[in-house]
Amino acid sequence: MSQGQTSSSPCLGDALGRSIHYLRLSVTDRCNLRCTYCQSNAVHEFIPHEHILHYEEILRFVNIVHRLGIEKVRLTGGEPFVRKGCADFLFRLRQQFPSLDIRITSNGTLLEEHAALLKRIRVGAVNLSLDSFDAATFASITGRNFLPQVLNALEKLLAEGVSVKINAVALRGITEREIDNFLAFANTYGVDIRFIEFMPMGSSTLWNKQLFCPVSELLTLIGQRVELRPSPSDERFGGPARMFSMTGKKGRIGVISPLSNHFCHTCNRLRLTSEGAIRLCLFDDQEYALRPMLRDPAVEDAEIAAYLRRLCQTKPLGYDRLRAKKETAVAHSVMSGIGG
Ligand code: SAM
Repeated sequence: MSQGQTSSSPCLGDALGRSIHYLRLSVTDRCNLRCTYCQSNAVHEFIPHEHILHYEEILRFVNIVHRLGIEKVRLTGGEPFVRKGCADFLFRLRQQFPSLDIRITSNGTLLEEHAALLKRIRVGAVNLSLDSFDAATFASITGRNFLPQVLNALEKLLAEGVSVKINAVALRGITEREIDNFLAFANTYGVDIRFIEFMPMGSSTLWNKQLFCPVSELLTLIGQRVELRPSPSDERFGGPARMFSMTGKKGRIGVISPLSNHFCHTCNRLRLTSEGAIRLCLFDDQEYALRPMLRDPAVEDAEIAAYLRRLCQTKPLGYDRLRAKKETAVAHSVMSGIGG
C-alpha cells in the first residue's frame, strides 16, 4: 500500500505505491479515421450501442472517482466527437465538476465547430493526434483526406486560446522525413509536439520492427538541427513525456517511450472503456466489467467505490507484460477500443 494510503484511505492507490489521479475515459470505440498504427489486419467489430455506457452512467462514474481523488479526466475514443451528444456531455461534465481538469484527445477532424465550447468549458488542453503535415502522407496513414479539417480546427483552437499539444506516432521512414515540418510548426505556433513510440496493440497489429522508430533516434535528428534542453513537465503529477525546449525557438519537443524506456513505475492512470469496463493497464487485457453494477439499481455508489479501491490495488506493472510477451502484440485489444 502506498505511503499515506490505508485500506480506509479515500484515494485510489495500488500495491506498488502508485497513486491514481488520472482517468482516461473512452466515450466510443468508433472513429472516422483508419490510422494504420491504431487498426489491425482483423475486421474490427464495433461494440453494440446497447453496451455503450450512457452519458448519465459516465457522469455517475466520474462523480464516484472524483471523490476518490481523480483530478484529471481525458476524453478519448475512438474519436470522441463521432459520438452524438459529446459536446453536451462535455458541458455537463464541466457544470457538475467545476474543479476537474478536463482534457481531450482527438484527431481534430470534427473539432473546428466546437472550439468555442472547449474554451468556454476551460478544457485543460486538447491533445491533437497529427502524424504528418503533408496531405498525401496524412491520407496514407489515416485512410482519409482530412488534413485541411484538422489544420482548420487547430487554427480555430489556437485563436480561441485553447491549449493544444500535438501527438505524433513515430513511424520509421515517415516521421524522420517530416521532422523539419514538425519543428517549423512548433516554432510558428509555440505548441508542444510529442512523439510516441508505435506500440504493438491488437492481435493483428501492423506493428513490426521495420516500422518501429525509437524516439531516441528522433531526438538525435532534432538535436542535429536545434539545441535541446530538458524542460520540466507542465503536468501536475508529471507525465510520461520527457520534454525539451529548443534554444531560440518557440514550442517544445517531447518524447514518450513506452517500449524503449518505460514509465510504468509512475503510472497514475485508470481507464474506463466505452462499454463500461475498467482497464488497469494499457498492456494488460484483463478488464473488469462495471456496467452491470452501474445499471443495477440496487448497487450504491459506496459499493462501486469500494470495488474500485480493491481493483486498483491489483494494478499491474505493464512492462512485465511487455517483457513476457511471446507474440508481436502486447495486448489483444486495439487502441481504438481502449482509447490509448
Ligand atoms: N481518436 C482520437 C485521436 O486520434 O487522438 C483518440 C483515440 S486514439 C486511440 C488516442 C491516441 O492513441 C492517439 O494519440 C494515437 O495516435 C495513439 N495511438 C493509437 N494507436 C497507437 C499505437 N499502436 N502506438 C502508439 N500510439 C497509438
